[in-house]
Amino acid sequence: MGRYQDHHRASLADRESFWRRESTLIDWQRPFDTVLDYSRPPFARWYVGGHTNICHNALDRHLATRRDQAALIYISTETGRERIYSYGELHAEVNRCAAVLRELGVGPGDRVLIYMPMVPEAAIAMLACTRLGAIHSVVFGGFAPASLATRIDDAQPKVLFTAEGGMRGGRTIAYKPLVDEALDLAQHRLSSVVVVDRGLGTGMRLRPGRDLDYATLRARHERAAVPCAWLESSEPSYILYTSGTTGKPKGVQRDTGGYAVALASSMRSIFCVAPGATMFTTSDVGWVVGHSYIVYGPLINGSTTILYEGLPIRPDPGIWWQIVEKYRVCTMFSSPTAIRVLKKQDDAYLKRHDLSSLRYLFLAGEPLDEPTAHWAADNLGVAIVDNYWQTETGWPILSAQPGVEDAPRKFGSPSFPVYGYDVRLLNATSGEEAGVNEKGVLALEPPLPPGCMSTLWRDDRRFVETYFATFPGRQTYSTFDWALKDDDGYYFVLGRTDDVINVAGHRLGTREIEEAVQAHKGIAEVAVVGVADPIKGQSPVAFAVVRDIASLATAASTAQLREEVLKTVDRELGAIGRPSAVHFVTLLPKTRSGKLLRRSIQAMAEGRDPGDLTTIEDPAALEEIRRVLAAPQG
Ligand code: ATP
Ligand code: MG
Repeated sequence: MGRYQDHHRASLADRESFWRRESTLIDWQRPFDTVLDYSRPPFARWYVGGHTNICHNALDRHLATRRDQAALIYISTETGRERIYSYGELHAEVNRCAAVLRELGVGPGDRVLIYMPMVPEAAIAMLACTRLGAIHSVVFGGFAPASLATRIDDAQPKVLFTAEGGMRGGRTIAYKPLVDEALDLAQHRLSSVVVVDRGLGTGMRLRPGRDLDYATLRARHERAAVPCAWLESSEPSYILYTSGTTGKPKGVQRDTGGYAVALASSMRSIFCVAPGATMFTTSDVGWVVGHSYIVYGPLINGSTTILYEGLPIRPDPGIWWQIVEKYRVCTMFSSPTAIRVLKKQDDAYLKRHDLSSLRYLFLAGEPLDEPTAHWAADNLGVAIVDNYWQTETGWPILSAQPGVEDAPRKFGSPSFPVYGYDVRLLNATSGEEAGVNEKGVLALEPPLPPGCMSTLWRDDRRFVETYFATFPGRQTYSTFDWALKDDDGYYFVLGRTDDVINVAGHRLGTREIEEAVQAHKGIAEVAVVGVADPIKGQSPVAFAVVRDIASLATAASTAQLREEVLKTVDRELGAIGRPSAVHFVTLLPKTRSGKLLRRSIQAMAEGRDPGDLTTIEDPAALEEIRRVLAAPQG
């Protein structure tokens, strides 16, 4: 691990030299004067005085060498459409879109809200904004009108860019009525709504004087050439709200130069994607993984990116592997949830495709349990790379960095701190560093590296008070996640600091209990929550999805499985972690980004209101929880 360690040490010992070297991975229109200005902690400004543009780096600079190379491959298993945009074509489309936005009065610093399904126009609109120096705020196209309205009021966009609708599992979801409703709810008045008509036949109605048809506007700018607006490095590129798992979405503001450098660097040092090679990230453009690794990272790197609209199991559970085979994908980036979905299917789907091009499967977003990691490794025969980060940071905090050194990985661990990150594990009450194998809050000693949030949108105070006020006596960034480091220096993320169950004075992470339940082969997935208990304070309650529904065929087989699960927990963790109830369900409530809505499950288990559910993937999951909670347990 010598090379990794040297690299990481160098990135902190001499930040200036390290990030000066990395800065050459992108084009600068005007060179920067200072690598880092940290005169106003905890605010870090990277590449001060330098002028650049993200869209230029993602498209224009590749035209000389990659005009005909695929830049973006759009695959929709919902509509059956597939289209390859070369760098030349994508550049032309982005220019047209930028001309449209410019015509609508959008210029540097203006906000554009993008509320889109997974269609190429989503990425095109993002790139058009960065081309103009406008700040995009992409709101995941699954949010309900009320959430959209809050985000409209927060960002105060001039233009809202949307589509008539999206599709999921063969069902059409009309977006336009949701947008109309959100705009009625919002205080802010924007000047135009641009709507992409996908031909889904949603019967959308355009409100005169406000709503405009994108195709009509675009046709006026067929040959448009819109120059890139050169921005000072610290000027904002975008606003992005966190997933809202804890119920408090925060408007993360990202800079321009630092972000572009961090992405360019990570594409090589972490994701090992060469220019010209293909990356397939299965996230959504509405989340940070989509911003960084569907749109900007691969394009800044001169690679090919795949934008996929559809489910992982439709038309069949082999669809992703078919895509890998067809487009010779070398690096894939997905989430543990998606892999658990595939794990429940017949393994034969995996074996049907030639996966020889694939080298890495990166997984992020939530804990990657060991059985799922093993399953993926055994069946895919590629390196499975758990990586840990947040909307706030924009790129990985903890990850193996095979582009630096291909150090061995351990299942269940996202390996080590990424270069540039000064990771600490701190005791929440004393602020002192935790020892080896001791649990602490995962924290980052500022300055945060390039790419990380520069502040919260229009709220410097909330930025400092939210993230830098956790530990007594020190201004250190808190991730609000628990972790520990083992004897070999590998990190293990143990869950969120607010996901702790206090059983008779013992503090147990929900994740520890979940891992123990999942050690039983019959369990595909599980959520454990703490439920108020008059004697013990709290007691753990498990909601488990079984691998094979046949194991619940009779009352006796169900009771037997429950008994085995409890025995497994006793063996793995000890009786202290033993759930007071194990409920079997067919699906768990998750956010659209695949994160468990633990706070909602807990509320329901305690007979409270589940709270804000606008980001929920499938409301039927809550119905099931309600049902099993009401049923007597054998
Ligand atoms: P909010 O902050 O609004 O409640 P959120 O934290 O779910 O939402 P994100 O920024 O999308 O929003 O998610 C980051 C969080 O996801 C991390 O803080 C961590 O809890 C979890 N996470 C991400 N990757 C991993 C991983 N590899 N292992 C364990 N947990 C992870
Ligand atoms: Mg968070």
